[in-house]
Amino acid sequence: MLKKWIAIIYDHRISLRERMYRIVTGVCMVALMFMLPMGRNVLNYVLLPVSIAIMALIVKFSIRKNCIHAGATAISVLLLILFPICFFTAGGFYSGVPEWFVICFIYICITLEGRRMYAFFLLCMAETLLCYRGAYYFPEFVAQNSQKHSFFDSAHSVILVGMLTSILLMFLNRIYDKENELTKQQKKEIEELNRAENHFFSSMSHEIRTPINTIIGLNEIILRGDIPAEVAENARNIQGASKLLLTLINDILDLSKIKSGKMEIVNVSYETGKLFSEIVNMIWIKAKEKGLEFRLHVDSSIPSMLCGDEVRIKQVLINLLNNAVKYTSEGSVTLSVRCERLTLNRVRVWYSVEDTGQGVKKENIPYIFNAFRRVDEEKNRHIEGTGLGLSIVQQLVELMDGEISVNSIYTKGSKFVVMIEQDIIDEKELGTFTLESRSRTNEGERYKQSFEAPNAHILVVDDNEMNLVVVKKLLSETKIQIDMALSAAECLEMTQVQHYDGILMDHMMPEMDGIQCFHALQSQPGGLCQNVPVIALTANAGSDNQLLYRKEGFSGYLAKPVSGALLEVAVLSILPKELVKLSEDANQSDIGKDFLIFEQAQRISLLVTTDSVCDLPDTLKKEFGISVCPYYVCTDEGRFLDEVEIRVDELLVHMAEGRNGYSQPPDVEDYERFFAEKLTEAQNVIHITMAKHVSDGYYNAVEAAKSFENVTVIDSGHLSSSMGLSVLYAAYMAENHASKAEIIQNVKKLRHFISSAFIIDSTHMMCQAGRISKRVQVLCDALLLHPIIHLRKSRMTVGGLEMGDFSYMVRSYVRRVFRDARSIDRRILFITYAGMDEERLEYIQQVVRQYCPFERVYLQKASSAIASNCGSGSFGLLFMRKNDAVITFAQASKPDEQDPAEQESDKIKLRVDEGSYEITKD
Ligand code: ADP
Repeated sequence: MLKKWIAIIYDHRISLRERMYRIVTGVCMVALMFMLPMGRNVLNYVLLPVSIAIMALIVKFSIRKNCIHAGATAISVLLLILFPICFFTAGGFYSGVPEWFVICFIYICITLEGRRMYAFFLLCMAETLLCYRGAYYFPEFVAQNSQKHSFFDSAHSVILVGMLTSILLMFLNRIYDKENELTKQQKKEIEELNRAENHFFSSMSHEIRTPINTIIGLNEIILRGDIPAEVAENARNIQGASKLLLTLINDILDLSKIKSGKMEIVNVSYETGKLFSEIVNMIWIKAKEKGLEFRLHVDSSIPSMLCGDEVRIKQVLINLLNNAVKYTSEGSVTLSVRCERLTLNRVRVWYSVEDTGQGVKKENIPYIFNAFRRVDEEKNRHIEGTGLGLSIVQQLVELMDGEISVNSIYTKGSKFVVMIEQDIIDEKELGTFTLESRSRTNEGERYKQSFEAPNAHILVVDDNEMNLVVVKKLLSETKIQIDMALSAAECLEMTQVQHYDGILMDHMMPEMDGIQCFHALQSQPGGLCQNVPVIALTANAGSDNQLLYRKEGFSGYLAKPVSGALLEVAVLSILPKELVKLSEDANQSDIGKDFLIFEQAQRISLLVTTDSVCDLPDTLKKEFGISVCPYYVCTDEGRFLDEVEIRVDELLVHMAEGRNGYSQPPDVEDYERFFAEKLTEAQNVIHITMAKHVSDGYYNAVEAAKSFENVTVIDSGHLSSSMGLSVLYAAYMAENHASKAEIIQNVKKLRHFISSAFIIDSTHMMCQAGRISKRVQVLCDALLLHPIIHLRKSRMTVGGLEMGDFSYMVRSYVRRVFRDARSIDRRILFITYAGMDEERLEYIQQVVRQYCPFERVYLQKASSAIASNCGSGSFGLLFMRKNDAVITFAQASKPDEQDPAEQESDKIKLRVDEGSYEITKD
């Protein structure tokens, strides 16, 4: 019986409340049994067994009738009647009964709920007090006990009550532990179920996309041929149905991703004009086909480049616009875009989609965002839909920290407004954007291949034979020679013996997948396709793969099912131009639009980038394609992008007024964004930073680079134009196809041959930046001392002091810097300065010419970030010392003062001969 009872207590199929009720009532019944001997009076001997029997009956009955609360209440009433009787008959407070009152309190607290519990608790308290009071004032009503009995009753009651409450707590604890374990296990099971569900959805998507790829691809081939009108009509219907099926799969996949928290928002910089063009191109034609007017109002002040999740914004707007067209039978559909500037580099953009359609009934509005919920079913039964669209839209907008609202008048129309905040990348205004001014697509036109490339040779890798057939057929008109491999292993075998101009690689393949195969190709010993552009073909998910393939280093990716036109654009973008003959009537601008997806395919192999603090002339940066990531300059008015939002002259005026100004390196996220963007231009990025012990820029860049496969960060060990010298050197090497490893090795080596020395006119800024104390600053000012800042082992050190007025300071500084004139490579010198007038600059040049003439001298204004550290009137002489890897900058580019036309004619050529680099005039 006890075993059965314990089994019931731990049986989690029985409700927790019922189990607690059973335990506590059981404990109470045991307590009553032990109270029997107390008082040694007939009434007790009769009353208590009867009460125990009644309790047992109540428990049984209440559980059977499923009215536990009522049962617990009845037992509580019984206890409240029983205990006072026992109290008086067993000897009042000289008996053991007072301890048993505790059991009554516990019973009430555990078994009753809500107000009833509070009422009974108060009743129990009042009753206990009354009993005590009665026993105190009317001792004659209390049965008298001998001292021996009192002692015995009290002792055994305390022990028993203690024991029973401990047993009770022990049981309760065990039940809680078991419940906890159970919850954890259930949570794990739910997670596993979720995982399985996701896996099921993504594999289902993959599995369904593969046959759809075949259907759509082969159907396109049918449509390309000369076929009777009826067959063409059927083929077009197949096309429509396959696309609808595809949308449905994508929606279900998106929803499951959002539900499992796996939907990631990937913010990238994008061109607003291109985004609007793409959206309009997709919707405009649908509206026209339905006889609706399509209106477009785009705020001309929208920045031309923003940073946001372009793919998801497009998805949201297309969904809303599709609905607007779907649920409108006459009138118009309007897309309006408006923006409001929030801060210097952030905007709030409102996208509104308005239609003159059937609208939504007021009572249905709260439900339209529910998944699988279609409202007004009666009216909408002829309109295709699943009720998933708006649910996805709402959740995507929320993931982007935006807002969505709807305003609809039944039978008159609806207006959906989406608000999303985004960072500004390029604040140049978009300008007038209309239906006419957008870049168009040739949608609806009959197929015409865009190019021919009979001498080009490509390889398509896919484990599904049908997919290979589709790709081959879709590209057949281009006359490209196409080889096919059914696995990664076969691909690697073929690339050992044959060079291909491009490779299309399926991602999901058994044994070795597309990504693994791509990396194996890149490092294949003796492989003939190590540097060949590879495009990923994927059937395994939605549109958020872009980042994955970009990070892995692919030249682009194509989501299956692929259309012939897109496939051609992709292949065209990776083929060497000399092998391609563009069709005469292929529209160039249309192809350009599709390159959006394959921006990576046009990438150069290696790009050298740096920070805005590199202090190189714009002409040189432009000439060698050096992009810079801007530092920040912080002033009392806020944080500005170095040289983009704040000019050095403005900053120096600001600081001359005694106000704050200091530089800050880009954050990890800034670098991530910068690298992601640069990886759209190049397959590899080498980023050269300022000396690592001078600024956190290096560490932030290294952290950001961890997110990418192909970004290498190098500490230049210097700052300003001497860091610029490293950058120039690397850019020359990159331009002349030196390998990444060679460049990295040489830039590191060059660190020891570059001379960085700045002389500080006033130590005020150094003091402000916390580099020297206020006392030292006052001393320097009083004695006209000018510290010389050197960079050694990436650290900034004071390498000496000069004294006196400007001319004296310049002379002794120049003499000191050019002390060891024989070791200096005299071909290029940067005189980099902050806030200096013409006269002083001329004087510096004169002194330099006197001590150590250079072939080329660049007068370079320091960037705001550098100027904020060294202050007005400071300058540096930055050059290289002779070394094995000789770079000749002599004809690299003319200094700023040179005629731009002449500069243009000075083309540079780099000759690479056995470890030494020389730039010669073309
Ligand atoms: P679907 O369109 O696939 O049914 P949605 O989630 O996109 O699913 O929309 C949910 C419901 O909201 C639709 O069934 C429709 O009744 C209503 N709805 C959405 N957009 C509009 C609109 N522009 N005009 C009228 N009703 C709309």
